[in-house]
Amino acid sequence: MLQKGRLAQSSPFIAGRDQETCKVIMGGGSFSFRTKASTATRTVVRHGSAPLFREADVCVVGSGISGVSAAIEAARLGKQVLLVDGLPVLGGQAVNSIVGTICGMFSNGADGYQVTYGIAEDIIRDLSKTGAIHYRQGVNNIIVYDEVALGRWIENAIREAGITVLLGAIVREVEVKERRIRSLSLATRYGDVRVGATGFVDASGDAALVWQAGFPCQEAADGPVFGTQMVVLEGIDEEHVPSRAELPVRMREKGEQYGLVRREGLSFIIPGRGIAAMNMTHMETPLDPFEMSTKTLEGRDQADRAVTFLKTEFPKAFGKARVRAYGFPGIRQTRWIRGRQQLTVEDVVSGRKFDDAIARTAWPIELHDSGNDHVWRPFGDDHMHYVPFGSLTPADADNIVVAGRCIDADNAALSSVRVMGPCIAMGAAAAHALDLAGTGSVHQIDMEALKVRLRDNLERNVSGHEIARTIRPFAEANA
Ligand SMILES: Cc1cc2nc3c(=O)[nH]c(=O)nc-3n(C[C@H](O)[C@H](O)[C@H](O)COP(=O)(O)OP(=O)(O)OC[C@H]3O[C@@H](n4cnc5c(N)ncnc54)[C@H](O)[C@@H]3O)c2cc1C
Repeated sequence: MLQKGRLAQSSPFIAGRDQETCKVIMGGGSFSFRTKASTATRTVVRHGSAPLFREADVCVVGSGISGVSAAIEAARLGKQVLLVDGLPVLGGQAVNSIVGTICGMFSNGADGYQVTYGIAEDIIRDLSKTGAIHYRQGVNNIIVYDEVALGRWIENAIREAGITVLLGAIVREVEVKERRIRSLSLATRYGDVRVGATGFVDASGDAALVWQAGFPCQEAADGPVFGTQMVVLEGIDEEHVPSRAELPVRMREKGEQYGLVRREGLSFIIPGRGIAAMNMTHMETPLDPFEMSTKTLEGRDQADRAVTFLKTEFPKAFGKARVRAYGFPGIRQTRWIRGRQQLTVEDVVSGRKFDDAIARTAWPIELHDSGNDHVWRPFGDDHMHYVPFGSLTPADADNIVVAGRCIDADNAALSSVRVMGPCIAMGAAAAHALDLAGTGSVHQIDMEALKVRLRDNLERNVSGHEIARTIRPFAEANA
């Protein structure tokens, strides 16, 4: 009897299938559906039409962390901003490649202080409320973050700032006249678009805008800089995760057995969630579209081999782990601009403070120039190096400022300033420089005025301890 009663309760009963609404009765409750579906269609035919045209004060190409910083800062200056990205989502690599941490935003050592502000402050303030970031103190101080939360933060901040977004739009052509970009032609799956603006920010990572405009760019001359296919694992046992030293040692010892290309790796654990972002592969990221597509699939294969390695070699930590997500291919350095000035490795090592400095960082030289491993040249607690405004500006153009991982630097120097802290600062500098330039040239702005506006990113020092105190530990936030 009991069995029958249970069955009767849980089996759904549908009443009135042939009427305008039907009722589903199940589990002691009911809900209704409309049953009549529209059958109407209309015929549409494509007629050759002109691209949609939109105008803005500032057009930012690339919605990675540097483009987001540029767009929000420009909007806060009262500009009409149009933010374009080739992906159908905002956030660039910070969100979609699951890079795991914000580096280069603090000075080194136990008394590390914050060196970049602007949207960095907002991100720390807002994400710390939900425990989505975690300050990790070490030789190099970093913030570990939840990329899903950062993605939503970016989307909300862009909407609140009143920025127009154009997603899934690839820059195809750039119209240049008398040293100024006049407009961009973009292809989207919904048709072509043309965008005109007074000023442009190239935050595309690959210098897409500067390249398409025909201005000189540069690439690494001694072989590729490798990217990484990141992978997020869930179901790990945090207590048994190998130390930062142990993982690479085992990768070197046993890597060949598992077909690993890279023989060193890192895990970024989001404490209290049994989740880790694994950085264990090295893939080439060529600019040829077919080659890049092939390398993308190879990168995923490398990631799978790395997961097999982890599960077998560290069963206590990773035996029950599953892949929760593969990031988009992580691209470090491909093509970048030739600017008015090149940041050199000597500038970085000596901590040269330029008259036109606009950003600072203490991040090591981190050049991924080999399949197996990478160059890592760390600096002391007192070290700081700077990015000059000249490295953000192509010499032959008056209304473009570049931000992020495609500014002018030598191969090694770029590897120390392409991390997210300085990317945020460069985005802010681009927005303020275009504001100061107006309809004039970014090469003729009042540099002192720019530096006053960027003073926080050059001089203000908030202790990392203070920040750590305001960030709730993950475990507590998720209790
Ligand atoms: C695997 C990996 C791990 C890393 N780890 C860290 C880390 O832990 N901490 C850290 O701080 N940094 C890390 N970095 C470096 C850092 O993530 C990037 O250098 C930084 O995020 C670059 O930001 P960006 O805004 O300059 O460029 P991106 O984030 O690359 O954004 C560029 C945007 O431009 C768009 N775009 C490109 N071309 C076009 C076009 N033609 N038309 C339209 N849109 C276009 C792209 O879709 C993209 O969204 C890592 C990098 C990699 C690859």
